[in-house]
Amino acid sequence: MTLTQKVAVITGSTSGIGLGIARALAGAGADVVLNGFGDAGAIEELRAGLAAEFGVRVGYHGADLSKPAEIAGLIGYATESFGSVDVLVNNAGIQHVAPVEEFPAERWDAVIALNLSAVFHGTHHALPGMKRRGWGRIINIASVHGHVASVNKSAYVAAKHGVVGLTKTVALETAGTGVTCNAICPGWVLTPLVQKQIDAIAASKNIPEPQARAELLGAKQPSGTFVTPDELGGLAVFLCSGPAAQMTGASLLMDGGWTAQ
Ligand code: NAD
Repeated sequence: MTLTQKVAVITGSTSGIGLGIARALAGAGADVVLNGFGDAGAIEELRAGLAAEFGVRVGYHGADLSKPAEIAGLIGYATESFGSVDVLVNNAGIQHVAPVEEFPAERWDAVIALNLSAVFHGTHHALPGMKRRGWGRIINIASVHGHVASVNKSAYVAAKHGVVGLTKTVALETAGTGVTCNAICPGWVLTPLVQKQIDAIAASKNIPEPQARAELLGAKQPSGTFVTPDELGGLAVFLCSGPAAQMTGASLLMDGGWTAQ
């Protein structure tokens, strides 16, 4: 398998896209370190279930990625307990929706801390070991909002554009070292992060949830179909594979045609 004897850390992998990517990397043979919030019993069930299903080692570290010291703790835990961090997927993210003039400064700081600064801190701590070993894969989960904007998402759009820029800089700084750094830019994926936005549309327009879901998709995503965490996991595995060795600094759209319009 592609990733046997590699160790992958996936931030924000107790749910949604991060969990889909963790499953795909484990399926490709990687040992996996999970991270994210949730009920302790449910997370332990998830951890043990992945280990049993794929026959790989699976750990968990509960670092709050909005706190730089805890990010150092996550990379330290993975290195000490599993031997290395070969693949880092910077995925954890949050959303807040409001017009700029009403956007709470505290929410701006929280979105930037998790969606942008945590990508820097994780990379900062994981990169030295990758360079020493002459192999590494950094995969940043940006968004279509790293390429285009939407109203009421100032912090998110700023953070995701920042992630695309950071990805290019890290790609240049690591060129020729065996380490690559790429961004994946999904369109709508049906996860708890998006379900909250669907529920808000349903409530504000007083329409049933399926109609709100169709409106959300129809407004932006020409395919009319959600991207899935499994599909994004497949792309992450490809980025870790031999044929992707010269792919670095890219931001890869998987968006049902959103940005083709
Ligand atoms: P999600 O809400 O399902 O999952 C987010 C994960 O991050 C969870 O595991 C959560 O526990 C974790 N998390 C939240 N705050 C954290 C913190 N402070 N420290 C550590 N972990 C934390 O969201 P998702 O939709 O799977 O989003 C994952 C990433 O994909 C985000 O960066 C998001 O911006 C991006 N994205 C999502 C979509 C979409 O349509 N869902 C589209 C494009 C990009």
